[in-house]
Amino acid sequence: MFSRTNAIDRLASEIAKFNLEPEQNALPQQQNIENARTSLISHLPVTGLGHEEAIEHIRKEIAPGFNGSSRSSTYYGFVTGGITLAGRLADNLVTAYDQNVQVHLPEETIATEVEDRALSLLCELLDFNPEDWGHRTFTTGATASNVLGLACAREHVIVEAASARGRPDISVGDLGIVAAMKCAEIDEIQVLTTVPHSSLSKAASLVGLGRASVKLVGLEGAPHRFDFAKLAKLIGMPRVATIVAVSASEVNTGLFATNGRDEMETLRKLCDIHGAWIHIDGAFGIMARLLNTAPYTSMYRNCEGLELADSITGDCHKLLNVPYDCGFFISRHRNLASSVFQNPNAAYLSAGGINDILSPLNIGIENSRRFRALPVYATLTAYGREGYRDMVERQVELARAIAEFVLENEEFELLPIFEKTKEEVLSNIFIIVLFRAKDERLNKELVQRIKDSRKVYVSGTAWDGKPACRFAVSNWIADKEKDMPMIKTVLQKVLDDWKSTNKGV
Ligand SMILES: *Cc1c(COP(=O)(O)O)cnc(C)c1O
Repeated sequence: MFSRTNAIDRLASEIAKFNLEPEQNALPQQQNIENARTSLISHLPVTGLGHEEAIEHIRKEIAPGFNGSSRSSTYYGFVTGGITLAGRLADNLVTAYDQNVQVHLPEETIATEVEDRALSLLCELLDFNPEDWGHRTFTTGATASNVLGLACAREHVIVEAASARGRPDISVGDLGIVAAMKCAEIDEIQVLTTVPHSSLSKAASLVGLGRASVKLVGLEGAPHRFDFAKLAKLIGMPRVATIVAVSASEVNTGLFATNGRDEMETLRKLCDIHGAWIHIDGAFGIMARLLNTAPYTSMYRNCEGLELADSITGDCHKLLNVPYDCGFFISRHRNLASSVFQNPNAAYLSAGGINDILSPLNIGIENSRRFRALPVYATLTAYGREGYRDMVERQVELARAIAEFVLENEEFELLPIFEKTKEEVLSNIFIIVLFRAKDERLNKELVQRIKDSRKVYVSGTAWDGKPACRFAVSNWIADKEKDMPMIKTVLQKVLDDWKSTNKGV
């Protein structure tokens, strides 16, 4: 049974039991990096050092401050995630077992079934019916999942266009994109989106669509939302096939591209008319689907209707809080999986289909791969729906407390603001807080000054052509009562120090 009040205390004692250091301040120290750099072995030793000396070298010289934790609870850079205890322990077992989860061999190993079950548990967590998502797999992360998404989408939109011209037998996987587009009488494949993660363009490059295929169709004044008129115009162009990529949510602001089932239904209808594919990049935002109780329901609303998509990207090493490298990809189009990913002529790699499970090598990028499903299986089993709801809620609670502090401070400006009242603004904060200092001279140094505290780590970004500072809360141990005093102290000190050294300037 999960109990919110003592979860963190219990973790500390559990960690002690397993002889692991609790998570503490693990901010990298500048001088250590310099020492580590000079101590790196420069050439392959002819006679090895032996494992003891090699490990000693790593512990003493490369990562002396590393204490077995991923990072501290006051690390708010990027969206990195932490590690739950169950996830951490299972990850050690993955190394010990050294399974290659590649071919479904039901008489020999349970690994592929654990993987499939972990994915169906994940679907349940996110309130997706596992039966609807027949193509599901673990990836190295959201970037790889976006590659899978665009690869499946590319196959689908060409097959749709070719079928409409009486050529249902066309496959990009077989013919390649140039020949398949010719047969389908398609001159261009476009990816329509609003404020995408940079990995979407990379994925477009990888699957042969090109970065230039990614086109923004955001609303003026609210670029994260779809301009449906613009979208309808582009999607209806002759001899053009379309993939719509939905950012849920956007990494700089935490804002969602759609705001509920109605918009997703509109999108679905439009895409069905034109044989287009809807891909959701929900790397971390997809976890807002857990937030269906007050005061978090506006987040939940943004995620309603995402089940109408064709495919969805999610990261497990972010808000699911399992170790790197772990992302997931789910698609409704089970048949497309083998059109895109099947290894042809490798009879020794095909296997029986007990429990209707597809061999991982035929539905994703890798052949040999790590048993990355096990930490996910472990952590979902250990904490369940309530445990995860609590973790996500605590992270949102902390982010909103930071946003409130920023909002109430005359020297800071919260970004971007579309709502009118303070309550509305705060109810739209997910796990990201973007802000800047009003004094542009301080603003230029703000991120560095916060990091120089060595107590709180944030990352810098740009907003409206000016520097901006971003808190990204993504560690499950986030705790408003425990973490806010430190954050307030650091931000207030940055302001006080600035004022005392820049009086009258
Ligand atoms: C982090 C992130 C990605 C990339 O994920 P990786 O796991 O780093 O590959 C893609 N999209 C969004 C929205 C993200 O936040």
